[in-house]
Amino acid sequence: MNVLGPIADMPSTTLPNLLALSSEQLCRLVADLGWPRYRATQILQWLYQHRVRDIRAMTNLPLDQRATLCRMAAIERASDVQCLVGADGTRKFLWSPVPNLSVETILIPEGRRLTLCVSSQIGCTLDCSFCLTGQMGWKRNLRAHEIVEQVLIAQDHLLPPQRITSLVFMGMGEPLANIDAVSEAIGRLTNAEWGLGFSPRRITLSTAGMVARFADIARLGVNLAVSLNATTDEQRQLLMPAINRLYPLEQLIAGCREYSQKTECCLTIEYVMLAGVNDTMHDARRLVQLLRGIRCKVNLIPFNEFASSSYRRPNETVVRQFQAVLRHAGFDVFVRKSRGSDILGACGQLGYIPRASAYSRVPTASAATQHERLVYEHG
Ligand code: SF4
Repeated sequence: MNVLGPIADMPSTTLPNLLALSSEQLCRLVADLGWPRYRATQILQWLYQHRVRDIRAMTNLPLDQRATLCRMAAIERASDVQCLVGADGTRKFLWSPVPNLSVETILIPEGRRLTLCVSSQIGCTLDCSFCLTGQMGWKRNLRAHEIVEQVLIAQDHLLPPQRITSLVFMGMGEPLANIDAVSEAIGRLTNAEWGLGFSPRRITLSTAGMVARFADIARLGVNLAVSLNATTDEQRQLLMPAINRLYPLEQLIAGCREYSQKTECCLTIEYVMLAGVNDTMHDARRLVQLLRGIRCKVNLIPFNEFASSSYRRPNETVVRQFQAVLRHAGFDVFVRKSRGSDILGACGQLGYIPRASAYSRVPTASAATQHERLVYEHG
């Protein structure tokens, strides 16, 4: 069977997209063509490490093989990326893999760290009431190459020696509801020989609590963050109804406990604080009881307000008191700073697309073209 036929995406050029192939599929293609096996590695390196957009830029492939590949396939990258820059330097990238649907990715600079928050779905299958993404409903799962594309886009916009230091799956969507594509993407992101070479320890998957899939995270070797946000079932039912019906609080906490015992890894517990809803001292004490014996750190996230939400952000004193209760019980507790809220790039705010005219539109092609010129000159 021709590996390109039924498997790869059909981009606008009508040729299959090389980026849509897994490494195994690319190896099969190279074998079908009778080329040496290392060609597949070279092609993958051009795609992920050099980020070329044109097969002709793969200068260590013989000319006739480049010509053959050009006739059979193309490299389809995001062509029109909108980049919104917040006052604090946070950047939000928007692009459309299909008409009328946008993927949102957030790049957050903090000191020497540069964190990229990637999306795994457009919209979300879950319906957390404090989250703008949840309000837009589920539109589509992202494919593996569309998840990786978000990292490639961010890299296109960096100037050396800047580099992304950590990746968090905390953008749009529930990553464990799209685990096959997420697993495949993580394989490409962590492969050191031809992929992007991220250490799995620098990648965090955040889940609303799909307990049955915690084992997948352990298998991938990445970090687990659990979005808890409640200390009673009633509260969680109000805030995260869909997931709480599937995995009530008791089951979720048992899953966290089992995960931390089996993996000996430290989980991150995310707790969005909503004024008057889950931010009382009773909540803080109940949280201590729930988490006792689980190896974890706690991130408190004061709610980032948006126009269509009736929830409010608690005041600073309440947040500090809540933090003090957990600290006193021996937990590592951090209050997450709100980043990029002026471009609706903060936690829980993804899903609203501001009018393009208000912001800069930065085509990634310019960065890529520059890079490809270098490759042509020096390759
Ligand atoms: S908080 Fe996460 S899981 Fe819940 S609706 Fe938003 S994106 Fe989905």
